[in-house]
Amino acid sequence: MQQTNGFMKALKCRECAREYPLGATHVCEYDFGPLEVVYDYASISQSLTRSAIESRPKTMWRYRELLPVAKEPTVGFQVGYTPLVKADRLAKRLGIRELWIKNDTVNYPTLSFKDRVVSVALSRARELGFTTVACASTGNLANSVAANAAAAGLRAYVFIPADLEQGKIVNSLVYGAEVIGIKGHYDEVNRLCAEIAGKYGWAFVNVNMRPYYAEGSKSMGFEIMEQLGWKIPRHTVVCMASGSLLTKIHKSYQEFTKLGLVDSTDYKIHGAQATGCNPITAAQKAGLDFFKPVKPNTIAKSLAIGTPADGFYALKVMKETGGASEDVTDDEIREGIRLLAECEGIFAETAGGVTVGVAKKLIASGKIPAKDSAVLCVTGNGLKTLDAVVGHVGATREIRPSLREFETLLSADQATAAKA
Ligand SMILES: *Cc1c(COP(=O)(O)O)cnc(C)c1O
Ligand SMILES: [Zn+2]
Repeated sequence: MQQTNGFMKALKCRECAREYPLGATHVCEYDFGPLEVVYDYASISQSLTRSAIESRPKTMWRYRELLPVAKEPTVGFQVGYTPLVKADRLAKRLGIRELWIKNDTVNYPTLSFKDRVVSVALSRARELGFTTVACASTGNLANSVAANAAAAGLRAYVFIPADLEQGKIVNSLVYGAEVIGIKGHYDEVNRLCAEIAGKYGWAFVNVNMRPYYAEGSKSMGFEIMEQLGWKIPRHTVVCMASGSLLTKIHKSYQEFTKLGLVDSTDYKIHGAQATGCNPITAAQKAGLDFFKPVKPNTIAKSLAIGTPADGFYALKVMKETGGASEDVTDDEIREGIRLLAECEGIFAETAGGVTVGVAKKLIASGKIPAKDSAVLCVTGNGLKTLDAVVGHVGATREIRPSLREFETLLSADQATAAKA
């Protein structure tokens, strides 16, 4: 376990396979291909057994050998191992035999799956000697960088589109991070951050630290397989912003298969986007290998990336696994949020509404057959995107503090119920 690089071997270009040292770098110098962490699977298979994993604390770090830190993690020890909820009532509503919700609305500490990627990126940033961390974010990443940096005593600059939801903005400011609102959409924020990252010696979690950051998403897939009793789900529905999470869920299934932790079985990974920002699903539905950039206009702001960095690879994963994709309108997103809340008692943010809405469509069209079982990845908490649902979830009924007024209200309800 105590080699200098842990179980990491190198960074490797996804296009030309050239290898690079394990520093803070993310693109190949020859073809600008993205770099990815490669591991020493032979040594990993010596220590990472089912029983070893089961004996460890219930956090994402129980799969530590497959996460890119050299030594013990120093940021985010408590992150992950969120509930996998058997969603019988929602299954019935959507018309499928078996349904599970991977519930990252309750991830620690900032209530989205981004805590997974950030704990890895910041742990690695510290190993590489950084003291200032930064990110380009659609909201949740900024929240998680701000919180985890505060707890680790790191300085944080987070860059977001200026028009984000109040909940997302306050949830970055409260930790004392420097929050910079850019008057533009995410793709412009990202372009600026690439320039800043080139000029200042900061660890930008999703720019120069991206190869490490992205690997953190695999933990969601590892947990799903373990929680299903060491099985790969037949169908997984994943919402997409840059498309990174979807590709890393695929990588997690492949790694567990390669290590013999699960049996090799057929599975399909399906992608979900909002119709107001659907570069990846539009390409998938048209049978194309490349996406066309779009200008986002959707209430699902956490997914509003018009030029998705991993869009090409997400399309490849869907094609390879035989997965499908769909996108949903703002009204369908709100309906998805309500369905999940009313059936399962889980309040997801807009991205979760996208996942549920898309699952509904894929089941209705038979792309996810009714006789099968599916896992929906629900990635963020609804308390952060109240703006999107206020005025669409009914209203309180006000009465004076009088039993008589309450009983009048109740008998009216009972009369309505009797008629129905
Ligand atoms: C960032 C984010 C995603 C998707 O991220 P990718 O860039 O596709 O990895 C999904 N859901 C929520 C809530 C997010 O914040
Ligand atoms: Zn290359």
